[in-house]
Formats: sequence, C-alpha cells, structure tokens
Amino acid sequence: KMRRGWIECRHDIDSFAPDLLSLYESLKPSEEHKSKQTQLIDSLAKSLSKEWPNARLHLYGSCANSFGTSHSDVDVCLEIEIGTESTVEILQRLADILHGDNFDDVEAITSARVPIVRMLDPGSGFSCDICINNLFAVANTKLLKDYAQIDGRLLQLASIVKHWAKLRGVNETYRGTLSSYAYVLMCISFLQLREPKILPCLQAMDPTYIMVVDDTKCTYFDDIHQLHDFGAENKESIAELLWAFFHYWAFQHDYRKDVISIRMGKIISKKEKDWTTRVGNDRHLMCIEDPFEISHDLGRVVDRQTIRIIIEEFERAADVLQHDNDPCVTLFKPYNY
Ligand code: ATP
Ligand code: MG
Repeated sequence: KMRRGWIECRHDIDSFAPDLLSLYESLKPSEEHKSKQTQLIDSLAKSLSKEWPNARLHLYGSCANSFGTSHSDVDVCLEIEIGTESTVEILQRLADILHGDNFDDVEAITSARVPIVRMLDPGSGFSCDICINNLFAVANTKLLKDYAQIDGRLLQLASIVKHWAKLRGVNETYRGTLSSYAYVLMCISFLQLREPKILPCLQAMDPTYIMVVDDTKCTYFDDIHQLHDFGAENKESIAELLWAFFHYWAFQHDYRKDVISIRMGKIISKKEKDWTTRVGNDRHLMCIEDPFEISHDLGRVVDRQTIRIIIEEFERAADVLQHDNDPCVTLFKPYNY
C-alpha cells in the first residue's frame, strides 16, 4: 500500500550492502559470548534447583530467538507450580536467593507489566532478567526464531534496525520508545508486505504447533524447512530493504489508522481493534499488535512527544540512506534526545 506516492531509492543503494552485511556479522554474538551465557544459565539453574526442584528454565528473548547481539541481555523464564504465594512474593524470594548466591545488583521489579527480577552476573558481566511463568514470551520467542529461519534477510534487517535504535536512543520503553521485540515485529511485518513477499504469515497457515498459555491457544505453522526458499523470488538487497523499511515508517505508515499485525500478515485498522481512543495509559498512537496477546499493543508506551522523536528518527534514517555519502557511518551516529 503506497499512500504518499512512491519515491524511488537512489540507484547506487546496493553498493552499501557489503558494508551493512559486515556490520551485521560484527553484531553477532561470539562463541565466547555464547559459552558465557551457557555458564550463567547453569549457575542460575543450580541456585534455583535448591528452592524449586521441579522448576523448568526457559530462555526467551534475543538469547533464544536468534536476534541476539553481543550487547543483548539474558532473558530467563522460570516455570513453576504456584500455590497460594503471589508472583510478587515469589520474585522477592527469588531475589533473596540470588543475592545470597553472590549475583550482583539483584532487584525485584514488580510494578512492570511483566514483573521480573533483574541482576548482574559477575562472572560474565551480563545483565539477566528473570520472569515467572510468562509462557507467552516463550511462545513468541519460538515464533520469531522460526521466522528468522525462513529468509536470512530478516535477521540482517532486524539486527541492523535494533543496533540503529540503540545508538539513536529510541530503544528504551521506560522513556516512551520501543522495545527490541517491537522492532523485530515491525521488520517481520514489513517483509510480509514486500512484493514479492519475503516472509509468509505463519499464523494464517495450517497450524503444526500449539501451545496453550492461560486460556489462549498460540498456534501457527512451524514446519519451516518447507518454506526455506519462500522469499527467493524477491531479489532486494539488505541495503534496499533497510532504506524501504525506514521510508515506510517515515512516510507511508498511516499512524492515525494503521495497526501492524504479523498475526494477519497485513495492515489492519485501529477501528477493528477498538484502539481508537485512549484507555488508561494506552494511547495507541503507534500500533503494533502482539502476535499472541492480541489485545496487547506494543506501541502503548509511545506518547505524543516520543512518537515525534521516533518518526523524526525514521525520516533521518531514510534521508541518510537516500543522500548521505557515507550512510553506513552517519546512520549509526550515536544520539540521545
Ligand atoms: P535485546 O537484544 O535488545 O535484549 P530482545 O529480543 O531480548 O532484545 P527484549 O525487548 O529484551 O528483546 O524482550 C525480550 C523478550 O521479552 C521478547 O522476545 C518478548 O518475548 C518479550 N517482550 C519484550 N517486550 C515485550 C512486550 N512489551 N510485550 C510482550 N512481550 C515482550
Ligand atoms: Mg533481551
């Protein structure tokens, strides 16, 4: 859907693809990073097994969805049977245990939408978030990982966009900008909408995977090796896609009406979601539907001021890729608003 007239990208855009690809390679976590991560998980499992012998540890987020970089934190979900104790009480107890086991800066963050314990592992220097029984995160982690295996350009695009967002200061939910998870969903949606398509809509296909979380069935087609050449007809390079991504979010997305939905594989309307008015703190200025918790808008954190900042950053990025002599440097110039 081209709303504001199609402008063409510069003709030499593909000449920037090699630099972007080497940037992407440099962002990938090293083997050393991964083995440190494994050590952290092992020592965490040891700490927890004393208190909760039947607990299961799931990795989620970028250490498990393949969108990780060497700057990513470690996200862990503890799956346990809860008796009469509340999640908050369990998190408090968890924080005490970790503190006693010499993890640093242990802090229970119980007011967040998803309450967690955050801590620092002195061995690896990694920051680690632990949540309890948040199996939606485990399900969406698998969904993202499966999408990543269909076409390599998703990982390239999302890693570069995440890196850009971190450096430009627009990847901080507590300040009203977007989570890494939201950026990855934006990339998936964008690639579902290319012509020819680069990604399918896995939730619109016959389900081969089912996970029931609370009362919600999370289902989708996960037999992805059947889809390994899905995007092959589309020959766009990472440079072209990166420009088109920013151009879409700067000039083509209709912020008043549109909701992006990887669940539907297309743009849907705020009206059909009933996301037209502000309810409590949910302003719905920039709408990104969660694939499984479909009443959840990942853009809810965005307010009138930060939406301007985010759109201006998209415009700057599109402009840099369109006109700058050294876009791969200029694009990532650190900035803090
Ligand atoms: P990074 O590399 O920056 O750590 P990440 O992929 O781990 O990126 P986070 O934003 O740390 O992304 O989120 C970790 C996981 O938590 C996501 O993969 C997702 O499963 C879940 N998550 C994060 N934010 C939300 C949210 N607002 N709503 C629902 N789930 C979320
Ligand atoms: Mg993370």
